[in-house]
Amino acid sequence: MANRYITTPVYYVNARPHIGHAYTTVMADILARYFKAKGEDVFFLTGTDEHGAKNAQAAERVKKTPKQYVNELASEFRIAWQGLNIDYSQFIRTSDPKHEKVVVDFVQKLKNAGFVDKRRYSGLYCIACERYLTPKELESGLCPDHKTKPVLQTEENYFFALSRFQEKLIRTIERDELLITPATRRNEVLGKLRTGLEDVSISRANVVWGIPFPNDPNQTIYVWVDALINYYSATEMYDSLGGWAEHPADIHLIGKDILWFHAVIWPAMLLALKLPLPKTIATHGFFTIGGEKMSKTRGNVLDPLELVEKYGVDTIRYALVSAFPFGTDGDFSEEIIKQKYESELANELGNLLQRVLIMMKKYNLCSLAKKWQGAKRNKVSSRSRKELLAVGEDIEKYRFDLALSAIWDIVRQGNEAIERAKPWELAKNNKAKLEDVIGNEYERLLLIARLIKPFMPATSSAMEEQLQSCVPEPLFPKIDG
Ligand SMILES: [Zn+2]
Repeated sequence: MANRYITTPVYYVNARPHIGHAYTTVMADILARYFKAKGEDVFFLTGTDEHGAKNAQAAERVKKTPKQYVNELASEFRIAWQGLNIDYSQFIRTSDPKHEKVVVDFVQKLKNAGFVDKRRYSGLYCIACERYLTPKELESGLCPDHKTKPVLQTEENYFFALSRFQEKLIRTIERDELLITPATRRNEVLGKLRTGLEDVSISRANVVWGIPFPNDPNQTIYVWVDALINYYSATEMYDSLGGWAEHPADIHLIGKDILWFHAVIWPAMLLALKLPLPKTIATHGFFTIGGEKMSKTRGNVLDPLELVEKYGVDTIRYALVSAFPFGTDGDFSEEIIKQKYESELANELGNLLQRVLIMMKKYNLCSLAKKWQGAKRNKVSSRSRKELLAVGEDIEKYRFDLALSAIWDIVRQGNEAIERAKPWELAKNNKAKLEDVIGNEYERLLLIARLIKPFMPATSSAMEEQLQSCVPEPLFPKIDG
């Protein structure tokens, strides 16, 4: 039975996977791989959010039925995750009848518990956001995210009594029983919670592509409610997860745009059913691409698979992680990838491995590789242990960029140590010292391979293989163009 349950959001399939989706998913994959390497039984859930008016409209634009359309998009997401070497446990789809059934049961239970009633509601609705906007949120009458005019919509909807959970949520978040990281995001949520909490509509009239509301086929369960419940329905659908009541999610990884849904609405739904809360909501910031907001109209949307094809999967994983701290906004671009490829990957890591292996061959030290490996297996040096612990702590605190920069310090120290020791001179007059220097670098490379494993699994394996075979091959060869 899994003892650590990690999730990404289910991604809304009204567009193809882009670098923003890749970012969240790669970070979740790093965490999952890290905890697995520690010997934990990890369940890593990702998937797609497939209902709602926006998806139905996207299907109509390409003259497909919603089901055809979401099938195609769901497989595009799977293909993208395969390309990025994402080792998820299950890929959940909200149009899966098993999930749909759990959602209906969940909403029925909310109703039975007295937290749902039907009301007439008028408001300004942004179709692109799939939600009502409050007058406070508008910027010169437009949706701040989509710059479109919301439409006045009046409908009868079911409402969830969110307001009844204000005090409880404040207390829970203040005590970090529901841990929201980074602290800036936690404080934002607390600030907004303290200004008051309004009940929210959890159904839509006239939305055909969705899950019918229990006992009221004219209403559809609001796509956001349907999507949030995926974390719970997975625990009913997949045997290796215990039920949510025994083991709720440990980590929801999300982007900051969906924090309110995850930190307020989702926990309130769980509290209403007396279910335990997820332990952590780890929130990342927004991307700009070359200093500008990513958008289709600007034509700067980065396709993760194209980048993987050009630079290799681990380059993209490395570049995403090291570009900026997980919790903050940051800039990304192909220029950044190129630069990191040439300097940190090829010239620093690739070069260290190459020169050590080439010297081992040249000075007939390959036969010592087995001995050095054996020594390494028998006794992880105290320095290595310290590095492993420090990098592990960074990963567990979502400081992925710092973990990588600590590892790259070790890489640079390796290149510097070689420059200082000048093995090419030792080879002439001091064989014992030469063995010592190269042996140290060999051990360092084994440590680096182990440290980068969750971040760059393929590179880690390639390093280990070369260190076994003593046959150097460039990890990051020159790229044309
Ligand atoms: Zn909008």
